[in-house]
Amino acid sequence: MKILCLGAAGFIGSHLTKRMLDEGHTIVAVDIYDDKITEFKDHERLTFIQQDIRRPDWDLERLVQDSDLVIDLIAYANPGLYIKLPMEVFRLNFTENLKIADACVKYKRRLIQFSTCEVYGRTLVTCANGGLKDPENPSYATFSEDTSEFILGPVEKHRWIYACAKQLLERVLHAQGLEKEFNYTIIRPFNFIGPKIDYLLDETDGIPRVFSFFMDALINGTQMKLVDGGQQRRCYTYIDDAIECIYRVVENPNGACDKQIFNIGSPDNEVSIRQLAEKMRDIYAEKFADPSVPLPEIVEVSADEFYGKGYEDSDRRIPDIRKAQKLLGWQPKWGLRDMLIDSMKYYVTEYMEVKKKRIDGEFMHDIVRHANAA
Ligand code: UDP
Repeated sequence: MKILCLGAAGFIGSHLTKRMLDEGHTIVAVDIYDDKITEFKDHERLTFIQQDIRRPDWDLERLVQDSDLVIDLIAYANPGLYIKLPMEVFRLNFTENLKIADACVKYKRRLIQFSTCEVYGRTLVTCANGGLKDPENPSYATFSEDTSEFILGPVEKHRWIYACAKQLLERVLHAQGLEKEFNYTIIRPFNFIGPKIDYLLDETDGIPRVFSFFMDALINGTQMKLVDGGQQRRCYTYIDDAIECIYRVVENPNGACDKQIFNIGSPDNEVSIRQLAEKMRDIYAEKFADPSVPLPEIVEVSADEFYGKGYEDSDRRIPDIRKAQKLLGWQPKWGLRDMLIDSMKYYVTEYMEVKKKRIDGEFMHDIVRHANAA
């Protein structure tokens, strides 16, 4: 197939693009940066277009028309940004992404749209004020694609603008699919981690996800910070498992993914953020640390202090993956310890090389610069 992959050089995009090239597809890859795909950027079946999609000077319609399948991974997906630049998060994640969907509708191209598990929001437990008999029951936190309710916080907690933008985009795709001859698949990733997930702190001004915050603390011997005590839980999914599932969506056996939404995640890898910090510190001590350098301390900080006003957390989220198991025969294989070792190894050994190839300086400045230029 000829596949237009938008956001091909991000964390998920770089792993997915590599897999699609290995499977023999021809890829037109669009991204602002190229540093995560440098090792295969010159592949004969890859055309790389360095482009900020917010700028008017690119030919989205022609690229869509020329492809058999469109994959849209373009997003700001880091909680630090939802707080710092909420309008930019809305603009990129909804307004600009809608243009891609509209082009797919116009030219009747199948679209794989990346969304987020954040659309599910918080659990019933957080709204029930102690009114549930068995609040630990995983069924309160297990989210199914087609039946779960969405519980988002108040407007003043502007963190939810990301979840809301993604949710609205999903609803528009669904509505387009009802009214027009339009085929799409929506993917809701549950906390993927792996090599290349984010840049570490020195370049990102507080933007990356928790794995990178902790990794940065381990490498630099600074504090590992638990936001509001670190009791919140996540299910971590190794990028290789995720790519295996996503690639099956690309293949779409017998149209199994037509107009479907898929959770992709590892329900068995649930961990609190405090446990994650402790596990990462233990692994680092065991495998990577210089024994003469003291390990970082784990401290608690308030959400206001860490993110600023407007943050509210997802307390717990477990993916129901029965749909992917049934329709795609997919099963995640990686356990938490192994995926942490693999991801950490990358940051300890290879990361500095990628970092050197970064086009510009500080990432946050880049975002503002790109936004202003567009
Ligand atoms: N978090 C933390 N310390 C950090 C960074 C994040 O305790 O240094 C918490 C954050 O408040 C959230 C969880 O870790 O509860 C996961 O955050 P992440 O940024 O990875 O993204 P999310 O899973 O919320 O989308």
